[in-house]
Amino acid sequence: MNLSQQNLDVLRGMVEGEPKNVVILSHTNPDGDAVGSSIAWAEALRHKGHNVECVVPNKYPYYLDWMSGIGNVIIYKNDAERVEALLAEADILFCLDFHSYSRLDALGDIIAANVRAKRVLIDHHLDPSSEFDLMFSHPESSSTSFLVYCIIEALWGNESITPSQAEVLYVGLMTDTGHFSFSFLTPELYRSLAVLCATGIDIPQINNNVYNSFTEGRARLFGYVINRKMRFMRKGTVAHMSLTEEEMRRFWFQQGDSEGFVNYPLTVKKMRMSAIFIEHKDFIRVSLRSRGRVDVNLFAARYFEGGGHKNAAGGKSYVSMAETIARFEAAVEEFAAEGLL
Ligand code: 5GP
Ligand code: MN
Repeated sequence: MNLSQQNLDVLRGMVEGEPKNVVILSHTNPDGDAVGSSIAWAEALRHKGHNVECVVPNKYPYYLDWMSGIGNVIIYKNDAERVEALLAEADILFCLDFHSYSRLDALGDIIAANVRAKRVLIDHHLDPSSEFDLMFSHPESSSTSFLVYCIIEALWGNESITPSQAEVLYVGLMTDTGHFSFSFLTPELYRSLAVLCATGIDIPQINNNVYNSFTEGRARLFGYVINRKMRFMRKGTVAHMSLTEEEMRRFWFQQGDSEGFVNYPLTVKKMRMSAIFIEHKDFIRVSLRSRGRVDVNLFAARYFEGGGHKNAAGGKSYVSMAETIARFEAAVEEFAAEGLL
Protein backbone atom coordinates (compact mmCIF):
# COMPACT_ATOMS: atom_id res chain seq x y z
CA MET A 1 0.00 0.00 0.00
CA ASN A 2 1.43 3.30 -1.03
CA LEU A 3 0.79 5.28 2.16
CA SER A 4 1.94 8.90 2.08
CA GLN A 5 4.92 9.39 4.39
CA GLN A 6 3.76 12.92 5.09
CA ASN A 7 0.33 11.65 6.21
CA LEU A 8 1.96 8.99 8.36
CA ASP A 9 4.14 11.60 10.03
CA VAL A 10 1.10 13.77 10.81
CA LEU A 11 -0.75 10.72 12.17
CA ARG A 12 2.24 9.72 14.28
CA GLY A 13 2.30 13.21 15.75
CA MET A 14 -1.38 12.88 16.66
CA VAL A 15 -1.22 9.45 18.30
CA GLU A 16 2.24 9.36 19.88
CA GLY A 17 1.84 12.23 22.32
CA GLU A 18 -0.07 12.55 25.55
CA PRO A 19 -3.30 10.55 26.08
CA LYS A 20 -6.25 11.85 24.10
CA ASN A 21 -9.97 11.18 23.90
CA VAL A 22 -10.52 9.28 20.68
CA VAL A 23 -13.75 8.17 19.00
CA ILE A 24 -13.65 5.68 16.13
CA LEU A 25 -16.72 5.84 13.93
CA SER A 26 -17.95 3.51 11.25
CA HIS A 27 -20.90 3.36 8.86
CA THR A 28 -24.61 2.52 9.12
CA ASN A 29 -25.33 -1.22 8.82
CA PRO A 30 -21.77 -1.98 9.95
CA ASP A 31 -20.22 -5.06 8.39
CA GLY A 32 -17.21 -7.25 9.24
CA ASP A 33 -14.77 -4.74 7.77
CA ALA A 34 -16.32 -1.78 9.61
CA VAL A 35 -16.20 -3.39 13.06
CA GLY A 36 -13.01 -5.41 12.43
CA SER A 37 -11.00 -2.35 11.40
CA SER A 38 -12.50 -0.24 14.23
CA ILE A 39 -11.75 -2.76 17.00
CA ALA A 40 -8.18 -3.39 15.78
CA TRP A 41 -7.40 0.33 15.47
CA ALA A 42 -8.93 0.97 18.91
CA GLU A 43 -6.64 -1.64 20.45
CA ALA A 44 -3.57 -0.09 18.77
CA LEU A 45 -4.49 3.35 20.16
CA ARG A 46 -5.26 1.99 23.64
CA HIS A 47 -1.74 0.50 23.68
CA LYS A 48 -0.51 4.06 23.20
CA GLY A 49 -2.44 5.17 26.28
CA HIS A 50 -5.43 6.85 24.62
CA ASN A 51 -8.97 6.74 25.87
CA VAL A 52 -10.78 5.12 22.91
CA GLU A 53 -14.41 4.26 22.13
CA CYS A 54 -15.85 2.74 18.95
CA VAL A 55 -19.24 3.95 17.73
CA VAL A 56 -21.55 2.70 14.97
CA PRO A 57 -24.93 4.23 14.00
CA ASN A 58 -26.92 0.99 14.34
CA LYS A 59 -26.45 -2.66 15.30
CA TYR A 60 -24.01 -4.92 13.46
CA PRO A 61 -25.35 -8.30 12.19
CA TYR A 62 -25.67 -11.12 14.74
CA TYR A 63 -23.07 -13.32 13.01
CA LEU A 64 -20.40 -10.88 14.25
CA ASP A 65 -21.51 -11.06 17.91
CA TRP A 66 -18.68 -13.51 18.74
CA MET A 67 -15.88 -11.05 17.88
CA SER A 68 -13.79 -10.12 20.88
CA GLY A 69 -14.26 -6.48 21.82
CA ILE A 70 -17.52 -6.11 19.89
CA GLY A 71 -19.52 -5.87 23.11
CA ASN A 72 -17.77 -2.55 23.79
CA VAL A 73 -18.76 -1.05 20.43
CA ILE A 74 -21.38 1.61 21.22
CA ILE A 75 -24.53 1.68 19.10
CA TYR A 76 -25.71 5.26 18.61
CA LYS A 77 -29.34 4.22 18.11
CA ASN A 78 -29.38 2.62 21.60
CA ASP A 79 -27.13 5.06 23.43
CA ALA A 80 -27.46 8.47 21.77
CA GLU A 81 -26.74 10.58 24.86
CA ARG A 82 -23.55 8.71 25.70
CA VAL A 83 -22.31 9.05 22.11
CA GLU A 84 -23.11 12.77 22.02
CA ALA A 85 -21.16 13.27 25.27
CA LEU A 86 -18.19 11.31 23.90
CA LEU A 87 -18.21 13.33 20.69
CA ALA A 88 -18.30 16.61 22.58
CA GLU A 89 -15.18 15.55 24.54
CA ALA A 90 -13.31 13.98 21.62
CA ASP A 91 -9.89 15.26 20.53
CA ILE A 92 -9.69 12.99 17.48
CA LEU A 93 -12.40 11.29 15.41
CA PHE A 94 -11.28 8.42 13.23
CA CYS A 95 -13.74 7.73 10.42
CA LEU A 96 -13.28 4.16 9.22
CA ASP A 97 -14.78 2.40 6.20
CA PHE A 98 -17.00 5.23 4.91
CA HIS A 99 -16.34 8.16 2.62
CA SER A 100 -18.83 10.81 3.73
CA TYR A 101 -20.86 11.71 6.85
CA SER A 102 -23.99 10.98 4.82
CA ARG A 103 -23.21 7.28 5.45
CA LEU A 104 -23.83 7.84 9.19
CA ASP A 105 -27.49 8.88 8.82
CA ALA A 106 -28.63 10.93 11.89
CA LEU A 107 -25.22 10.63 13.54
CA GLY A 108 -23.71 12.48 10.57
CA ASP A 109 -25.40 15.78 11.56
CA ILE A 110 -23.92 15.59 15.05
CA ILE A 111 -20.44 15.00 13.65
CA ALA A 112 -20.81 17.87 11.23
CA ALA A 113 -21.65 20.15 14.20
CA ASN A 114 -18.64 19.00 16.24
CA VAL A 115 -15.83 21.35 15.26
CA ARG A 116 -13.30 20.69 18.04
CA ALA A 117 -12.00 17.22 17.21
CA LYS A 118 -9.55 16.56 14.39
CA ARG A 119 -11.18 14.25 11.84
CA VAL A 120 -9.11 11.52 10.24
CA LEU A 121 -10.42 9.37 7.40
CA ILE A 122 -9.19 5.79 6.91
CA ASP A 123 -11.22 4.33 4.05
CA HIS A 124 -11.27 2.46 0.75
CA HIS A 125 -14.46 3.79 -0.93
CA LEU A 126 -14.46 5.86 -4.11
CA ASP A 127 -15.08 9.63 -4.12
CA PRO A 128 -14.34 10.65 -0.50
CA SER A 129 -15.81 13.97 0.56
CA SER A 130 -13.47 16.71 1.75
CA GLU A 131 -14.79 16.98 5.31
CA PHE A 132 -11.62 15.57 6.91
CA ASP A 133 -8.41 17.08 8.34
CA LEU A 134 -6.28 14.09 7.38
CA MET A 135 -7.17 11.47 4.78
CA PHE A 136 -6.00 7.94 4.18
CA SER A 137 -8.31 7.34 1.22
CA HIS A 138 -7.26 4.22 -0.70
CA PRO A 139 -9.86 2.78 -3.09
CA GLU A 140 -7.12 0.40 -4.26
CA SER A 141 -7.24 -1.35 -0.88
CA SER A 142 -9.50 -4.41 -0.74
CA SER A 143 -10.71 -3.51 2.76
CA THR A 144 -10.34 -0.86 5.44
CA SER A 145 -8.98 -3.61 7.69
CA PHE A 146 -6.08 -4.05 5.27
CA LEU A 147 -5.45 -0.30 5.40
CA VAL A 148 -5.44 -0.36 9.20
CA TYR A 149 -3.01 -3.29 9.04
CA CYS A 150 -0.71 -1.28 6.73
CA ILE A 151 -0.89 1.80 8.95
CA ILE A 152 -0.08 -0.20 12.10
CA GLU A 153 2.79 -1.88 10.24
CA ALA A 154 4.16 1.46 9.04
CA LEU A 155 3.91 3.12 12.46
CA TRP A 156 4.84 0.35 14.86
CA GLY A 157 5.89 -2.72 12.85
CA ASN A 158 3.77 -5.80 12.17
CA GLU A 159 5.26 -7.61 15.18
CA SER A 160 3.13 -5.27 17.33
CA ILE A 161 -0.06 -6.97 16.08
CA THR A 162 -1.69 -9.07 18.81
CA PRO A 163 -3.79 -12.22 18.25
CA SER A 164 -6.97 -10.32 19.14
CA GLN A 165 -6.16 -7.61 16.56
CA ALA A 166 -5.23 -10.28 14.03
CA GLU A 167 -8.56 -12.04 14.50
CA VAL A 168 -10.73 -8.97 13.89
CA LEU A 169 -8.53 -7.74 11.01
CA TYR A 170 -8.83 -11.18 9.41
CA VAL A 171 -12.63 -10.88 9.56
CA GLY A 172 -12.46 -7.56 7.69
CA LEU A 173 -10.00 -8.84 5.10
CA MET A 174 -11.99 -12.01 4.51
CA THR A 175 -15.48 -10.52 4.32
CA ASP A 176 -14.69 -7.47 2.15
CA THR A 177 -12.83 -9.58 -0.41
CA GLY A 178 -15.66 -12.16 -0.61
CA HIS A 179 -13.35 -14.71 0.94
CA PHE A 180 -10.38 -13.55 -1.14
CA SER A 181 -12.19 -13.72 -4.46
CA PHE A 182 -12.87 -10.10 -5.54
CA SER A 183 -10.39 -7.44 -6.66
CA PHE A 184 -7.13 -6.00 -5.32
CA LEU A 185 -5.77 -9.40 -4.24
CA THR A 186 -2.15 -8.29 -4.14
CA PRO A 187 1.00 -10.08 -2.96
CA GLU A 188 1.09 -7.52 -0.13
CA LEU A 189 -2.38 -8.63 1.00
CA TYR A 190 -1.26 -12.27 1.13
CA ARG A 191 1.87 -11.27 3.08
CA SER A 192 -0.38 -9.56 5.63
CA LEU A 193 -2.40 -12.79 5.93
CA ALA A 194 0.80 -14.67 6.74
CA VAL A 195 1.54 -12.17 9.52
CA LEU A 196 -1.99 -12.50 10.94
CA CYS A 197 -1.83 -16.30 10.69
CA ALA A 198 1.52 -16.34 12.53
CA THR A 199 -0.12 -14.80 15.62
CA GLY A 200 -1.86 -18.17 16.08
CA ILE A 201 -5.44 -17.22 15.15
CA ASP A 202 -7.79 -20.11 14.38
CA ILE A 203 -8.76 -19.41 10.77
CA PRO A 204 -11.20 -22.35 10.28
CA GLN A 205 -12.97 -21.27 13.47
CA ILE A 206 -13.22 -17.65 12.27
CA ASN A 207 -14.61 -18.93 9.00
CA ASN A 208 -17.23 -21.01 10.83
CA ASN A 209 -18.15 -18.14 13.11
CA VAL A 210 -18.79 -15.79 10.18
CA TYR A 211 -20.19 -18.02 7.44
CA ASN A 212 -21.72 -21.01 9.23
CA SER A 213 -23.63 -19.38 12.05
CA PHE A 214 -26.87 -18.39 10.38
CA THR A 215 -30.40 -19.38 11.36
CA GLU A 216 -32.74 -21.89 9.72
CA GLY A 217 -34.94 -18.97 8.67
CA ARG A 218 -32.05 -17.46 6.73
CA ALA A 219 -31.41 -20.69 4.81
CA ARG A 220 -35.11 -20.96 3.90
CA LEU A 221 -35.36 -17.28 2.96
CA PHE A 222 -32.36 -17.73 0.67
CA GLY A 223 -34.02 -20.69 -1.08
CA TYR A 224 -37.23 -18.67 -1.44
CA VAL A 225 -35.61 -15.55 -2.87
CA ILE A 226 -33.51 -17.46 -5.42
CA ASN A 227 -36.33 -19.75 -6.50
CA ARG A 228 -39.24 -17.33 -6.45
CA LYS A 229 -37.93 -13.80 -6.66
CA MET A 230 -34.89 -13.83 -8.96
CA ARG A 231 -35.62 -12.27 -12.36
CA PHE A 232 -33.21 -12.23 -15.29
CA MET A 233 -32.97 -9.46 -17.87
CA ARG A 234 -30.99 -8.87 -21.04
CA LYS A 235 -30.38 -12.51 -21.93
CA GLY A 236 -29.32 -13.50 -18.46
CA THR A 237 -26.66 -10.83 -18.01
CA VAL A 238 -28.54 -8.84 -15.35
CA ALA A 239 -30.52 -10.20 -12.40
CA HIS A 240 -32.64 -8.63 -9.69
CA MET A 241 -34.41 -9.88 -6.59
CA SER A 242 -36.62 -8.25 -3.99
CA LEU A 243 -37.81 -8.84 -0.45
CA THR A 244 -40.75 -7.13 1.18
CA GLU A 245 -41.14 -6.71 4.93
CA GLU A 246 -43.98 -9.27 4.86
CA GLU A 247 -41.76 -11.87 3.16
CA MET A 248 -38.95 -11.26 5.63
CA ARG A 249 -41.32 -11.65 8.60
CA ARG A 250 -42.48 -14.99 7.17
CA PHE A 251 -38.89 -16.26 7.49
CA TRP A 252 -38.19 -14.77 10.98
CA PHE A 253 -35.82 -12.23 9.44
CA GLN A 254 -33.01 -10.78 11.55
CA GLN A 255 -30.68 -8.00 10.44
CA GLY A 256 -27.82 -9.59 8.50
CA ASP A 257 -29.88 -12.48 7.14
CA SER A 258 -29.88 -11.13 3.58
CA GLU A 259 -26.08 -10.60 3.62
CA GLY A 260 -24.52 -12.23 0.55
CA PHE A 261 -27.78 -12.97 -1.32
CA VAL A 262 -26.95 -10.38 -3.99
CA ASN A 263 -23.73 -12.21 -4.88
CA TYR A 264 -25.49 -15.44 -5.83
CA PRO A 265 -26.81 -14.51 -9.31
CA LEU A 266 -23.20 -13.76 -10.28
CA THR A 267 -22.48 -17.50 -10.00
CA VAL A 268 -24.45 -17.85 -13.26
CA LYS A 269 -22.21 -17.76 -16.33
CA LYS A 270 -22.38 -14.49 -18.32
CA MET A 271 -24.06 -12.61 -15.45
CA ARG A 272 -22.62 -9.09 -15.27
CA MET A 273 -24.75 -7.31 -12.72
CA SER A 274 -26.98 -8.30 -9.82
CA ALA A 275 -29.29 -6.28 -7.60
CA ILE A 276 -31.43 -6.91 -4.54
CA PHE A 277 -34.11 -4.58 -3.20
CA ILE A 278 -34.89 -4.91 0.48
CA GLU A 279 -37.86 -3.13 1.99
CA HIS A 280 -37.32 -1.11 5.18
CA LYS A 281 -39.83 1.00 7.09
CA ASP A 282 -39.18 4.27 5.22
CA PHE A 283 -37.26 3.24 2.11
CA ILE A 284 -35.97 0.36 0.03
CA ARG A 285 -32.30 -0.52 0.37
CA VAL A 286 -30.64 -1.29 -2.97
CA SER A 287 -27.58 -3.54 -3.10
CA LEU A 288 -25.63 -3.95 -6.33
CA ARG A 289 -22.81 -6.23 -7.45
CA SER A 290 -21.08 -6.55 -10.81
CA ARG A 291 -18.33 -8.34 -12.62
CA GLY A 292 -15.43 -6.83 -14.53
CA ARG A 293 -15.83 -3.45 -16.16
CA VAL A 294 -19.49 -2.88 -15.17
CA ASP A 295 -19.37 0.04 -12.73
CA VAL A 296 -22.11 -0.25 -10.10
CA ASN A 297 -20.63 2.66 -8.13
CA LEU A 298 -21.63 4.84 -11.08
CA PHE A 299 -25.00 3.08 -11.40
CA ALA A 300 -25.79 3.54 -7.68
CA ALA A 301 -24.78 7.21 -7.76
CA ARG A 302 -26.81 7.94 -10.89
CA TYR A 303 -30.04 6.11 -10.11
CA PHE A 304 -30.19 5.35 -6.36
CA GLU A 305 -28.49 8.21 -4.47
CA GLY A 306 -25.68 5.89 -3.45
CA GLY A 307 -22.18 4.73 -4.22
CA GLY A 308 -19.52 2.32 -2.98
CA HIS A 309 -17.00 0.48 -5.09
CA LYS A 310 -16.84 -0.34 -8.81
CA ASN A 311 -18.08 -3.93 -8.32
CA ALA A 312 -20.06 -3.55 -5.05
CA ALA A 313 -22.28 -0.60 -4.31
CA GLY A 314 -25.58 0.37 -2.74
CA GLY A 315 -28.17 3.07 -2.44
CA LYS A 316 -31.75 3.84 -1.49
CA SER A 317 -35.12 4.13 -3.17
CA TYR A 318 -38.04 6.11 -1.74
CA VAL A 319 -40.82 4.76 -3.98
CA SER A 320 -42.81 1.50 -3.83
CA MET A 321 -41.23 -1.88 -4.54
CA ALA A 322 -43.01 -2.18 -7.91
CA GLU A 323 -41.84 1.30 -8.89
CA THR A 324 -38.30 0.62 -7.67
CA ILE A 325 -38.12 -2.48 -9.86
CA ALA A 326 -39.54 -0.59 -12.86
CA ARG A 327 -37.01 2.21 -12.35
CA PHE A 328 -34.19 -0.31 -12.04
CA GLU A 329 -35.20 -2.04 -15.27
CA ALA A 330 -35.39 1.29 -17.13
CA ALA A 331 -32.01 2.33 -15.67
CA VAL A 332 -30.45 -0.95 -16.83
CA GLU A 333 -31.68 -0.31 -20.37
CA GLU A 334 -30.32 3.24 -20.32
CA PHE A 335 -26.97 2.03 -18.94
CA ALA A 336 -26.79 -0.67 -21.62
CA ALA A 337 -27.68 1.81 -24.38
CA GLU A 338 -24.64 3.85 -23.31
CA GLY A 339 -22.43 0.78 -23.64
CA LEU A 340 -21.86 0.59 -19.89
CA LEU A 341 -23.16 -2.94 -19.45
P1 5GP B 1 -23.91 -3.57 0.60
O1 5GP B 1 -24.62 -3.91 -0.65
O2 5GP B 1 -23.06 -4.70 1.10
O3 5GP B 1 -24.81 -2.97 1.65
O4 5GP B 1 -22.91 -2.40 0.23
C1 5GP B 1 -21.94 -2.58 -0.77
C2 5GP B 1 -21.08 -1.34 -0.87
O5 5GP B 1 -21.85 -0.21 -1.23
C3 5GP B 1 -20.39 -0.98 0.43
O6 5GP B 1 -19.09 -0.59 0.11
C4 5GP B 1 -21.18 0.17 0.96
O7 5GP B 1 -20.37 1.03 1.68
C5 5GP B 1 -21.72 0.83 -0.28
N1 5GP B 1 -23.04 1.38 -0.01
C6 5GP B 1 -24.13 0.69 0.39
N2 5GP B 1 -25.20 1.51 0.55
C7 5GP B 1 -24.77 2.75 0.25
C8 5GP B 1 -25.39 4.05 0.23
O8 5GP B 1 -26.58 4.22 0.55
N3 5GP B 1 -24.59 5.10 -0.14
C9 5GP B 1 -23.29 4.93 -0.49
N4 5GP B 1 -22.59 6.01 -0.87
N5 5GP B 1 -22.68 3.74 -0.48
C10 5GP B 1 -23.39 2.66 -0.12
MN1 MN C 1 -15.04 -2.00 3.71
